[in-house]
Amino acid sequence: MPAKKKAVKTNYVYHFGCGKADGNGAMKELLGGKGANLAEMAGHPKLKLPVPPGFTITTEVCTYYWNNKRTYPKTLKAAVEANLKKVEKETGKVFGSKTNPLLVSVRSGARSSMPGMMETILNVGLTLDTIPGMIAKTGDERFVYDAYRRLIMMYSDVVMEKAAGIEPKDDKGIRKILDEMLCEVKAKRHYKSDTELTAKELKELCERFKKEVKKVLGKEFPDNPQEQLWGAIGAVFASWNGKRAVAYRNIEKIPHDWGTAVNVQTMVFGNMGETSATGVAFTRNPGNGDSHFYGEYLVNAQGEDVVAGIRTPSPINKWSVSGHGNDDKFLAVVMPKAYKELDAIQKRLEKHFRDMLDIEFTIEDGRLWLLQCRVGKRNGIAAVQMALDMVKEKLINKTQAVLRVSPAQLDELLHPIVDPKAEKAAKPLAKGLPAGPGGACGYIVFDTQTAIEAKKAGKEVILVREETNPEDVEGMRAAAAILTARGGMTSHAALVARGWGKCCIVGCSEISVNLAKRTMSVAGKTFKEGDFLTLNGTRGLVYEGKLAMLDGGTSNKNLAAFLKICDSVRTLGVRANADNPADAQKARDFGAEGIGLFRIEHMFYGANSEKPLFALRKMILSSTKEERVKALNEIFPYMKNDIKATLKAMAGFPVTIRLMDPPLHEFVPHSKDAVAAICKALKISEVEFKKRADALAEVNPMMGHRGIRLGVTYPEITSMQARAIFEAAAELIKEGLKVKPEIMIPVVCIDKEIISQKPLIEEAYKQVVAKTGKKMEYKVGTMIEIPRAAITSAKIAAVADFYSFGTNDLTQMSFGFSRDDIGAFVPSYIEQGVLKHDPFQILDQEGVGFLIKHAVKAGREVKPKLKIGICGEHGGEPSSVEFCHREGFNYVSCSPFRVPIARLAAAQAAAKGKK
Ligand code: PEP
Ligand code: MG
Repeated sequence: MPAKKKAVKTNYVYHFGCGKADGNGAMKELLGGKGANLAEMAGHPKLKLPVPPGFTITTEVCTYYWNNKRTYPKTLKAAVEANLKKVEKETGKVFGSKTNPLLVSVRSGARSSMPGMMETILNVGLTLDTIPGMIAKTGDERFVYDAYRRLIMMYSDVVMEKAAGIEPKDDKGIRKILDEMLCEVKAKRHYKSDTELTAKELKELCERFKKEVKKVLGKEFPDNPQEQLWGAIGAVFASWNGKRAVAYRNIEKIPHDWGTAVNVQTMVFGNMGETSATGVAFTRNPGNGDSHFYGEYLVNAQGEDVVAGIRTPSPINKWSVSGHGNDDKFLAVVMPKAYKELDAIQKRLEKHFRDMLDIEFTIEDGRLWLLQCRVGKRNGIAAVQMALDMVKEKLINKTQAVLRVSPAQLDELLHPIVDPKAEKAAKPLAKGLPAGPGGACGYIVFDTQTAIEAKKAGKEVILVREETNPEDVEGMRAAAAILTARGGMTSHAALVARGWGKCCIVGCSEISVNLAKRTMSVAGKTFKEGDFLTLNGTRGLVYEGKLAMLDGGTSNKNLAAFLKICDSVRTLGVRANADNPADAQKARDFGAEGIGLFRIEHMFYGANSEKPLFALRKMILSSTKEERVKALNEIFPYMKNDIKATLKAMAGFPVTIRLMDPPLHEFVPHSKDAVAAICKALKISEVEFKKRADALAEVNPMMGHRGIRLGVTYPEITSMQARAIFEAAAELIKEGLKVKPEIMIPVVCIDKEIISQKPLIEEAYKQVVAKTGKKMEYKVGTMIEIPRAAITSAKIAAVADFYSFGTNDLTQMSFGFSRDDIGAFVPSYIEQGVLKHDPFQILDQEGVGFLIKHAVKAGREVKPKLKIGICGEHGGEPSSVEFCHREGFNYVSCSPFRVPIARLAAAQAAAKGKK
């Protein structure tokens, strides 16, 4: 006979209070964050804090409610009744009693905090029957009618209007209507504050409120405590799917099936006169991380008054002075006993939870109560400060510390940003792709020359272009920010701006640029050169005019100390993509341990590039080997010096130098003068020039004659580059420096391509050793940026010393999305949920990741110690860095400004692994 299954009794209601609790702090999934922490505060043997008794109805009931046409499990009613009885016993009060009534609050509480997104109803249980009892108990008629008018306002709004699905007329809800009635009375009596209203006035107002509720909503305000209680419970569950809550979950990526718990808790009153108060406090300052108790409070008020901003709260102590008024009435002075108790409790709480907490408290006639505690939100500066302090205080260890600062918070410390207050008050003009983080404010210019001149004159400008190309580089450098109408996250503008840590928005298709008129149109407005814009490159938002800015600090001592902790936790190496000494130095300053991608062709862009660029143009327009070798010999000294300078700046660390991967057509001159000069140098006619230039034009240059394909067709190009690298290295060795060059072959898809190039490199090495007498260790590896290379990686690993995943091209070729043209369709894909993210920003772990995993596995089967890195834009994106850590990469490489983020992300990946 099969064993009889024991029926599992589901517990839908969990009690807390008076030193006991059915649940605990670990039960957030079931009890929600608020319920779990109330249970922990009330019931944990080391805490047993003064929490008003109550109970939590679980999130499972919310799920049931929504899955069963807004009904409850059968056993719920009895469970709520039993728990209410328990609370009555603990408080000595009775729900609905005429002589000794218990009032409760009914509040939401999801697993993860959704501040202000769901509903709360206070003072539930006040009826015409219980009011006299409350007056007799408190001896304060004014207080009781004030509580009653609050109940009517909240209940009619939350339960009778919102939860009932009534759409207010002219967008004017019942709460607003009642609020206006309240203001009218105050104005008539010339009262400044609600507290001046008398008992009689409040009583009359309550009667008028109820009549208005009936008139507007067509229903009587309930005068039965049970009806009020169940109405409130249902409304909180209903608020889980309110518009605000759903929108918030979409933004914060909180699953819609989690549900909220409902907390029913004995009311305690901060509005019982001058010996009562209510407030919100943080165990440390959430704005700057100072390790002092911080908070504000209001005497004679209920919690909603603090949040609603009707009255200006006072600081609880000298550490909380804000300069916004009432700064002298410290709680520590006004109610010293309660403050002392609160201070002692906050210390215990922080020790217990090992994090900065946000605490809601009420003082009822001198007696302190804790209504809530949760991990407090904080900004980036505070997050770093707290993590450092808590390690010092031995409250947390280093592995925990690295998880306390999010990459976005760290980013706040690295860039100047638009003042969030100013931004909140402004309306964006347009939205594009957030290609370069931080903020910038400046006037519009449309070309490089004007940008450079403005910079010289000490002006901040925003370079606005349809799209950028290598000829814009100097202007981009000079501008405070770049805004383009076209292009994706790996477009030229985005790559360059990110490399410099410059604010940049690309693919902002709402703007149209008229270069002839030197104007830009957006949102029906036309802007001319000289008009001001403010850009938020972190969010991709463009604003009209000048918004206030806040400084970002790169030499921040705390940042350095925190990143040192990250380094002690991470196992993944972090290198930078850099191709000049200044960027290499910046990368070192930010803690890079080498260069993972030095793009040789960048020497042909920007300042001082005229001569090598001229030689390069001759090289690509050559028609014979002799012509080409001559041009290559002209390029050689520039290339050697360029490589040498960067190798020097990175001495002691590995530098991966990628052989040229230039889209050739980009270097063909267009201007009349430039064409004439080239024709003269090559001794050819303009007709011949045109013939050669046309021959270089490609239908699809991204998949054209580039990378290793150039080396296969013209081996002399590879030989010259290898020689430049080895000679640069040999000269530095002569100077006594340690250099570790790694030659990387791009755009490989067949192992034989590498096999064809390796002898050229080896031959160049031999020649350099013969010439300089200096030997060195070097590596020859490849990029994996074409799906075929990933698929056949077992063969490729056999002939390569290392792999670096070029995930820009690997993404392009896996998706078949042109990396420069995604602005036209990827935003729609994201909007419609076809794609979750832009795959050029966040590595597509499912598809591209599949290829990478295979390549790593197959490669390491052939060469167990194969060195593996990534140098596509994903190398600085936190979730992609975590993927690389999990897949056993040796390092990630990203632009210098993203090195700190990559160090943090690598440490977090390691810390999560340890967890
Ligand atoms: C890549 O393809 O990921 C890469 C780093 O190379 P590039 O961006 O220069 O094509
Ligand atoms: Mg590439």
